[in-house]
Amino acid sequence: MFSYDVIILGAGAAGLFCAAQAGQRGLKVLLIDHYPAVAEKIRISGGGRANFTNRDLDPSSPQKHFLSGNSHFCRSALARFTPGDFLALMQKHGIDFHEKHKGQLFCDGSAQELIDMLLAECQSAPVKGGLVDRWQPCRVSRVDHDPDKQIYTVDSDRGMVKASALVLATGGLSIPKLGATDFGWRLARQFGLRVIEPRPGLVPLTFDGDNWAPYASLAGLALPVAISTSESKGDSPPSGKSKKTRITFHEDLLFTHRGLSGPAVLQISSYWQPGAPISIDLAPGVDLAAELLAAKARGSRKLIANELTAWLPSRLADSWVNVNSAWQRPINEASDKALAQLAEQLSQWQLVPTGTEGYRKAEVTVGGVDTRDLSSQTMEAKNQPGLYCIGEVVDVTGWLGGYNFQWAWASAHACALAIEPGSTSQA
Ligand SMILES: Cc1cc2nc3c(=O)[nH]c(=O)nc-3n(C[C@H](O)[C@H](O)[C@H](O)COP(=O)(O)OP(=O)(O)OC[C@H]3O[C@@H](n4cnc5c(N)ncnc54)[C@H](O)[C@@H]3O)c2cc1C
Repeated sequence: MFSYDVIILGAGAAGLFCAAQAGQRGLKVLLIDHYPAVAEKIRISGGGRANFTNRDLDPSSPQKHFLSGNSHFCRSALARFTPGDFLALMQKHGIDFHEKHKGQLFCDGSAQELIDMLLAECQSAPVKGGLVDRWQPCRVSRVDHDPDKQIYTVDSDRGMVKASALVLATGGLSIPKLGATDFGWRLARQFGLRVIEPRPGLVPLTFDGDNWAPYASLAGLALPVAISTSESKGDSPPSGKSKKTRITFHEDLLFTHRGLSGPAVLQISSYWQPGAPISIDLAPGVDLAAELLAAKARGSRKLIANELTAWLPSRLADSWVNVNSAWQRPINEASDKALAQLAEQLSQWQLVPTGTEGYRKAEVTVGGVDTRDLSSQTMEAKNQPGLYCIGEVVDVTGWLGGYNFQWAWASAHACALAIEPGSTSQA
């Protein structure tokens, strides 16, 4: 039987980084992944340029940018491995990057540079006597633990292998065709850990066909909006605990054939609970009621739709006024009530999504291994010695903008520092 200090299941962002760090500490590491290609989610991320971290992440209050049943869980790991630490690694490897919107950092070249960097970091392990082997593709059929000997045994299609530590880095369920599975959660449950019911996050929202028909022709239209969860039903965090805070994002909205997408909707989708309404201000920062009434007071003879184009794309203005004959007229002929109603609908567009585009289109999974069962310092299971969970498999979900990768790096780093060489490495 092969023997290592640690076996890491999943060679994605978190698994690769953890392997590299543990190997560089002198540990014998085996990375196992069932998918033929390494780190596919890094490769496709950020439109192929990987939004690999975010400068705005505040390690002292990471809960601002992360959802979790325990919003403070991620604080320690994020404070000990910061975006600056990852940037230093990129610079060491000569990988150029640039900042886009709201602190988001992307590779100048391609995401492949990042994957190559992580693989190179794994290969630099022998310097301190460490070793990182990678079995890929390799299917794992069974994992057992012997508590007396403190040994995990992994049965794989390349043979049996054992280690004193096992890391679950199998990620979330998004993009199943790239190898996503629920294996990590099944193993977590096998060892007595709780799992917060996973659901798709950072995902487009869909609407009922008939109700959506008036907007379907707007597919492809994008505009900046303010989007909020509803206060009335409360915004439950992934753990399901109800917290009556209103979450608002100022981002771009994109109309699609089946519903809404774009950064604004992806962000709010992680907070959205089925059945709850969302509210959209289509002209944020503008007092539309006052503007429309002022235009009427000036005696403007422009059609209302034309007047609206000062603040909205004309396609949107046209289709919006089409639903009500009171709005299909020159502004000086409209009643104050009709104008106020129009302004209210545009600045507080209330709508109830029927669902999401699901894991096929989601960027992340909200939920996962319950943080109550993990140490926030080491990512080790509290009641299962030697079992660690890192990255997206854990109930920590970042906002759009590089936060999810930063969580993968930081949780992997915390875990790699905590694993000790096991007796099996001498076996
Ligand atoms: C389209 C898209 C774009 C994204 N863009 C960004 C971005 O720009 N910035 C950002 O911060 N985040 C982005 N994300 C999210 C980010 O990719 C993930 O949060 C991150 O990859 C999580 O890292 P991980 O190592 O936990 O999981 P993953 O990177 O998903 O790795 C998990 C690994 O486990 C393997 N695995 C699964 N099941 C098994 C099994 N049964 N046996 C063995 N191996 C298994 C998988 O093959 C995979 O290699 C994006 C996600 C998607 C889908």
